[in-house]
Amino acid sequence: MQEQLFSSDDTSDKHRARERVEELRSLIRQYDYAYYVEAHPLISDRDYDRLFGELVELERRYPDLVTPDSPTQRVGGAPLEGFAHVQHRRPMLSLANTYTREEVLEFDRRIRQALSGEPYRYCCELKFDGVAISLRYSQGRFVLGATRGDGLVGDDITQNLRTIRSLPLVVRPVRVGRTQLTDFEVRGEAYMSRNDFEHLNRQRLAAGEKPFANPRNLTAGTLKLLDPREVAQRPLQLVCYYLDSEHVHLESQSDNLRLLAKLGFPTSPHWRLCPTIDDVFKYISEWEEKRRRLPFDIDGIVVKLDRIDQQERLGTVARSPRWAIAYKYEAEQARTVLKGITLQVGRTGVITPVAELEPVFLAGSTISRATLHNASFVEQLDLRIGDTVYIEKGGEVIPKVVGVDLSARPADAKPWHMPEHCPCPHKSKLYRPEGEVNYYCQSPACPWQIRRRIEHFASRRAMDIEGLGEKVIAELVESGLLETVADIYDLYTRRDQLVGRPGWGEKRVQNLLDAVEASKQQPFHRVLYALGIRYVGEEIAKVLADHFGSFDALCRASRQELEAIHEIGPRIAESVRNFCDDPEERQLVQRLQHAGLSFQQRKTAHHRTPLEGKTFVFTGELDAMPRSRAEELVELLGGRATSSVSKTTSFVIVGRQPGSKLVKAHQLGIQTMSESEFLELLRQHGVNV
Ligand SMILES: [Zn+2]
Repeated sequence: MQEQLFSSDDTSDKHRARERVEELRSLIRQYDYAYYVEAHPLISDRDYDRLFGELVELERRYPDLVTPDSPTQRVGGAPLEGFAHVQHRRPMLSLANTYTREEVLEFDRRIRQALSGEPYRYCCELKFDGVAISLRYSQGRFVLGATRGDGLVGDDITQNLRTIRSLPLVVRPVRVGRTQLTDFEVRGEAYMSRNDFEHLNRQRLAAGEKPFANPRNLTAGTLKLLDPREVAQRPLQLVCYYLDSEHVHLESQSDNLRLLAKLGFPTSPHWRLCPTIDDVFKYISEWEEKRRRLPFDIDGIVVKLDRIDQQERLGTVARSPRWAIAYKYEAEQARTVLKGITLQVGRTGVITPVAELEPVFLAGSTISRATLHNASFVEQLDLRIGDTVYIEKGGEVIPKVVGVDLSARPADAKPWHMPEHCPCPHKSKLYRPEGEVNYYCQSPACPWQIRRRIEHFASRRAMDIEGLGEKVIAELVESGLLETVADIYDLYTRRDQLVGRPGWGEKRVQNLLDAVEASKQQPFHRVLYALGIRYVGEEIAKVLADHFGSFDALCRASRQELEAIHEIGPRIAESVRNFCDDPEERQLVQRLQHAGLSFQQRKTAHHRTPLEGKTFVFTGELDAMPRSRAEELVELLGGRATSSVSKTTSFVIVGRQPGSKLVKAHQLGIQTMSESEFLELLRQHGVNV
């Protein structure tokens, strides 16, 4: 000790450097894990960069302290000439795919038979739509990573995999029984989030490069790049699901998943043990719906027999295990030919180019049209008539074009240009405001806009006028019976004109007039929403209705007063002001007022509802009911359910796997409530849950 303190030679400096290097690496590993695996950063980016910079500097000064597992070495290697081949220690099997419940039942029947009465259960996992990879660890360090290849021999892509920040270069010390787990192989999937995919594709388009069709293609393409520096630019992610070691014996797939997480590997939290095949079906149905809300693509569910001794007894056939299957959801993406592009006019006059497609079957229906968003999207994709395009059904109702297969472009493919005039009979010149991507039809008398406005007004979530759907509206607008939404309430004066029309009997006309009459009972916030003021959706309409109580009070508010409301930004404030200041809109409102629609909040003076004045925000999943139902119940009791946490929020209800709203609630000091507390509250107010 003494000697070291007083000696100022290189060895003691180096000794200190070595200690500090070790310390920095350990810290950076912890921070990387928190950031990339748990998505829960522990320190600021700035502090992280400072530590990382210090490590880089020390390693520069003492190059012999550099080791391959240092975080600085994630992007170390030089570009390769090609990939070496790797023989897998155990073949990388692929799972048998099933597409129907019958096939899953059949699988279960075979298992039951093979295990002749022995109890068993399944471990169900999400099937990530990525690229299968295998990772080898020796003495706790990542030494080799490979693609599946043909299942027996794959490509050595170690350098590229190293760049994935959630991949541990060094694993955490974990004991299984008496054995420290240091030498093993891990199987997993590299993938990319949809957001990152779209962002990268936009960049490629801007640089004049060919876009990728989907996140999986982009991931596969990235892993095959020869320059790891290029790979490091692309935000690949990793999920692991299998560990194979000669040194320890694991009991079950579920143990396997827990162990991987303990070692520091990214695993998916969504797996579930299913004691019966019915539970498996429940899991399948649940994720069929929920998968759209995941930030990445899954293409199905993996069903595995949980116990490993049972797996081993069942063995494999051909290249697939007998003890596991993949249940694949119907494809959400399809490929088809673009036959033409037409224009659709929205209620604000916004023009949307629509792809007219060779009909193709996708996720349960035949698709022949898909949105192209706006003219610049078509330009960016360099889309031509005759091209083969990829379409997708997202959470939205209307499918969208997501990409083009340029390799399938025929020689006579025709470029498309945005027409100069609206397709409506008025043929007014289209106009693109400065800084916007959208074109607009500016004619206020554009019959297509009129139709859209009336469709919106009569729609289920607005005035909810039964019998006044798209077709009827088109017919009535064309025949001049409807020009504005106010004309709906004059229809009764034109009963004779209606009854005489083909397909319109006395009864049908009466039903329509009854539905129109009934709509006058809709509350003020619905009327406000139905008016179709730009940027005033359902939620904002409720906020405005609650805050001002009447249309007149709303129109007396200045822009500043509007913006003082938490949910209202300058864009909405301006739009509301423009609406109120527009003489034509004022006249329309007057006619609707005259017809008897509610332009003020109804008084609830005599009995206050129990949750009146309380605002609820939900985060995470509820077990007892879907969120939409919970929100309905809150509103039934007079409360409000909103989607974002603000100072005015009364309670945040915390379900399973809550999101950033919980963090926000803590920051703002908003009271939180568990699901069971929330259910209790509902019960107190007489709701049977
Ligand atoms: Zn028009």
